[in-house]
Amino acid sequence: MINFGYARANDVADAVRMISADPAAKFIAGGTNLVDLMKVDVERPSRLIDISRLPLRNVEETADGGLRIGALVPNSDLAYHPVIAQRYPLIASAILAGASQQLRNMASTGGNLLQRTRCAYFYDTVTPCNKREPGAGCSAIGGINRIHAILGASEDCIATHPSDMCVALAALDARVRVTGPAGERVIAFADFHRLPGNTPQTDTNLRADEIVIAVELPAEGFAANYSYLKIRDRLSYAFALVSIAAALELEGGTIKEARLALGGVAHRPWRDATAEAALRGQPANQASFARAADLLLQDARGYDHNAFKIELARRGIVRTLTQAAQGTPQSQSVKKIQ
Ligand SMILES: Cc1cc2nc3c(=O)[nH]c(=O)nc-3n(C[C@H](O)[C@H](O)[C@H](O)COP(=O)(O)OP(=O)(O)OC[C@H]3O[C@@H](n4cnc5c(N)ncnc54)[C@H](O)[C@@H]3O)c2cc1C
Ligand code: SF4
Repeated sequence: MINFGYARANDVADAVRMISADPAAKFIAGGTNLVDLMKVDVERPSRLIDISRLPLRNVEETADGGLRIGALVPNSDLAYHPVIAQRYPLIASAILAGASQQLRNMASTGGNLLQRTRCAYFYDTVTPCNKREPGAGCSAIGGINRIHAILGASEDCIATHPSDMCVALAALDARVRVTGPAGERVIAFADFHRLPGNTPQTDTNLRADEIVIAVELPAEGFAANYSYLKIRDRLSYAFALVSIAAALELEGGTIKEARLALGGVAHRPWRDATAEAALRGQPANQASFARAADLLLQDARGYDHNAFKIELARRGIVRTLTQAAQGTPQSQSVKKIQ
């Protein structure tokens, strides 16, 4: 047992004041990741700042035709929200591919972004881990690294970001709205999560005294041609070995716009501008998709147990883009179930 304090924030300004006054404190939303990490002694906050009752549970249309999702909207509510189901089914598919219904009922939008890696060594305090203890070493390099990164890794950390929802948000060019003592700012989704470099202890570019208040979506949701494919060791209740979010805008058989994001392969949801550019203006066929996959994976590197992921990702990209182009998404969206 560790001793920690508990306080409930009255409003967002109160939450920011509390976290600024105590850098060793942690926000708690649904608690589905943080409490687990506290139980195994990885997180040792001085105080839990309960933000679960802050008024950040709305999903609202924005003036530019997009959507603002409050940071405390539960993953379940978001997946089944009618606007998400109809206009952004890629997000619904990704959320419903993750965790379990009970967990999704508790898990918040903000917490999903900030969940920590599932590297087993990170959870095991008797093994060296640079993310948990900077400078200690990385047990996964040379250890069991089946679920680890094949892109963007460093000599200090080869962990992956475990979220499904974030892969869809990355593909759709979402933005993260945050606030802190210096006021509000908006972070492009691509800049929110970090690569490990030599500071793997820092997962994101959110400052220690900031809180996520919303995720914002642009108007375009690619509802006609999308697919989310999650490949994992078990069909449910398991994190992705590789996941792929694909979204296309087609003109006849030609690709006008393409979005491609991968999960389970890097320290952040992985997008590659070169691969997407190579798809634009091309026929929506296997040859174009295979070329994009080759480009995206050209710098991929496998370790002792995860080299299989490179070919898995290559085939997965072709399959997901094919399903998006055909309008036959892999994961059933809420819209299709109804
Ligand atoms: C068994 C199991 C299986 C799972 N499977 C999957 C899966 O397949 N796919 C998947 O994507 N996820 C999966 N998850 C992870 C789950 O989605 C996350 O635990 C959840 O989204 C975290 O949200 P939360 O509100 O519970 O966060 P919390 O646990 O409350 O917080 C997590 C972190 O975020 C911080 N935080 C929370 N909200 C904010 C905010 N608004 N601003 C700033 N910081 C904040 C907290 O301080 C903490 O550091 C699984 C979890 C479990 C336990
Ligand atoms: S991969 Fe990262 S999280 Fe896992 S042991 Fe190495 S440093 Fe720690």
